[in-house]
Amino acid sequence: MKTLLLKDNDSDIRTAAEILRRGGLVGIPTETVYGLAADALNGSAVARIFAAKGRPMDNPLIVHIAEFGDIKRFGLVSSVPESAEKLAKCFWPGPLTMIMKKSGVVPNEVSAGLDTVAIRLPGHTIARKIIRAAGTPLAAPSANLSGSPSPTTAARVIDDMNGKIDAVVDGGACEVGVESTVITLATEIPRVLRPGGVTVEQLREVIGEVEVDSAVTGKLAEGEKAASPGMKYKHYAPKIRVVLLKCGDNEYIDYVNSKGERAAALCCDEDIPRLSVRCFSLGKRGDFASHAQRLFEELRQLDEYPELDVAYARLPSTDGVGLAVYNRLIRAAGFEVIDLEKN
Ligand code: AMP
Ligand code: MG
Repeated sequence: MKTLLLKDNDSDIRTAAEILRRGGLVGIPTETVYGLAADALNGSAVARIFAAKGRPMDNPLIVHIAEFGDIKRFGLVSSVPESAEKLAKCFWPGPLTMIMKKSGVVPNEVSAGLDTVAIRLPGHTIARKIIRAAGTPLAAPSANLSGSPSPTTAARVIDDMNGKIDAVVDGGACEVGVESTVITLATEIPRVLRPGGVTVEQLREVIGEVEVDSAVTGKLAEGEKAASPGMKYKHYAPKIRVVLLKCGDNEYIDYVNSKGERAAALCCDEDIPRLSVRCFSLGKRGDFASHAQRLFEELRQLDEYPELDVAYARLPSTDGVGLAVYNRLIRAAGFEVIDLEKN
């Protein structure tokens, strides 16, 4: 299959919509990361997403809509909770996914056999244009091979998906850079299953009590059931080893500089003058939005240097958007953390 490279113009958006309507796969830009979209109401189209990504069939997909009214218009859920309306008013369009009890309209391929469905209204105008033109909600996980860092440019989608999907629409680099915040409204107390661009603090301001699932910062115990199936897989990982260091700034510099030529630093701008190894910077210290935006691209760049075999990063902060960076980085590191403060 030849993968078409499409742009943001009327004729290309029409082409993308036609491909989607006839059951094909299109890489689409969103403000979080690039998505790999198919018609969410067509089970066999959705099954192709799993094949192209090599995604385990028990990991459900997010359904993307172009306006709040689409939930009712397409009959996606059995009822819309009041909390969903409140959250939508504040954070949609935007990087928030809400899980609700699903209706029979949603194919099993989308919900992976669960009785719930995850729904998001993306902030990227091109994404909404494509959904509207297709005339159907779109199921879209991140457009990477399963397990790899998510793509934040059209070129990275091509790296993973060339020849496997019908088209990619180029919408430039993604603004948020990490996937959406996922909150379930199907539990008694709403619970964050995955942190993202909308922070836990912001959610609590709007709907009060919000729990954070233990899988957000920790590793699932052997045999433990994941509330969000995606959390149980090794994820977001480059091919080289990533190690997190729990330590202060000076200890970080000294430790990494002692590691020699095959080591790299996944660091901040301020560290660069003091480091003697190759540096991959996530931006200024404390600028968590920048760290989120650049994380996946820097992880992918690590694999472009065959002389490297390990990258060291500091354990991120869990405040605000920092929690989303922490969640991705600790999985990229396979939960390998060295506590230098203990030594
Ligand atoms: P991705 O689209 O690759 O960013 O992954 C979507 C994430 O949302 C995965 O971690 C899924 O496990 C999670 N997810 C999607 N639908 C549901 C659902 N109905 N219940 C729980 N988690 C879900
Ligand atoms: Mg993903």
